[in-house]
Amino acid sequence: MTAVLAPERVTLSRMHAPTLCTLPDAVAANVARIRSATTARIMAVVKADGYGLGAVTVAQAALAAGAEWLGVTDAAEAVALRDAGIEAPILAWLNPSGVDAAQAAADRVDIAVGSVEELRQLIADAAAPVRVHLSMDTGMARGGCPLDDWADLLRLARAGAGRIDVVGVMGHLPRADEADPRANSAAVLRMRHARDAALRAGFGSLLVHLAATSGALTDPATHFDMVRIGAGLVGIDPSGTVPLHGAARLTASVVHTRVARAGTSVGYDGVHVTERDTHLSVIGVGYGDGIPRELSGEAGIGAGTGAGIEIGGTRHPIVGRVSMDQIVVDTGDVAFPRGTEATVFGPEGGAVPTVQDWARWAATIPHTIVTGVGPRVQRSVA
Ligand SMILES: *Cc1c(COP(=O)(O)O)cnc(C)c1O
Repeated sequence: MTAVLAPERVTLSRMHAPTLCTLPDAVAANVARIRSATTARIMAVVKADGYGLGAVTVAQAALAAGAEWLGVTDAAEAVALRDAGIEAPILAWLNPSGVDAAQAAADRVDIAVGSVEELRQLIADAAAPVRVHLSMDTGMARGGCPLDDWADLLRLARAGAGRIDVVGVMGHLPRADEADPRANSAAVLRMRHARDAALRAGFGSLLVHLAATSGALTDPATHFDMVRIGAGLVGIDPSGTVPLHGAARLTASVVHTRVARAGTSVGYDGVHVTERDTHLSVIGVGYGDGIPRELSGEAGIGAGTGAGIEIGGTRHPIVGRVSMDQIVVDTGDVAFPRGTEATVFGPEGGAVPTVQDWARWAATIPHTIVTGVGPRVQRSVA
């Protein structure tokens, strides 16, 4: 067989550690795309460390591009943003570590409240006024207040005036992956009801917000005063209808390259056997770094999913099971020297897989690909 480069004659190149590089220009371009779809304000949602790409980096890029608010899951995530010097208003909506009312007031972190019990607790704890967004269940039975309890929630919020300051009313669209406005109409009606009841109860100048990325891109009826954009910042349109800019590139080096004769069993359980003489390269990332093991079924090459990565401008198939720390790639006649950079995913398309490709190969959504990149992987910013 002919090899472009025989590995034993190649001097060791400098290895490059697996690195996830965040592309702030892509985040900015995605914010611009959202802005072209709405006149509402934009909240940049940077939960889960900015969908894996760095909360502060993504937040700063989004704010510079015209987002005005930030959204997080837990008030504790907001502290890191404040520590980075970010002044924009921040909303925290689930607070799994609990709400420290004094800290929320001091750090000016708004708290979403979706139950009478939570609101009672917040009012009891608040020394300085805490800014609150009342959260209505608009069809998920997840975070928001059930319709039947909304009047009680409003009454309690009125009684708590001075300890809490109600500044917003929010909901969340359950049909995040549908581009069909009819799928949102029940949630939109519920949101209007929530807003109107709050206005009747005497609350004024409320910021009303319901839509996330998909609603923002596909259904103006969901926009109200603000849209909350997370996936869209990092280049994911859950509705799959609007091309956005991938905002991350995951690269890793070839760690080993070898010749493999036809009939060589590759990796755990021998799920792949080479059909011809070829070259195999080991790349030093695995499921411990977030590479989905779901690729490596019984069918051998990328479980027949077509999973592969880019090396030297060509897509090469992943063969055998994904291991904890490594994957094996069949590069055919080409022997890539140790240290050659491989692109696991990136925004370019073509030979470079996108996070959407990975999601398809692993039968998941792109969100889990970007949020799943593990802590061993170094981070950089372009
Ligand atoms: C995650 C989240 C968002 C952002 O959703 P995307 O589809 O990622 O834009 C908005 N609002 C709430 C309440 C969320 O939990």
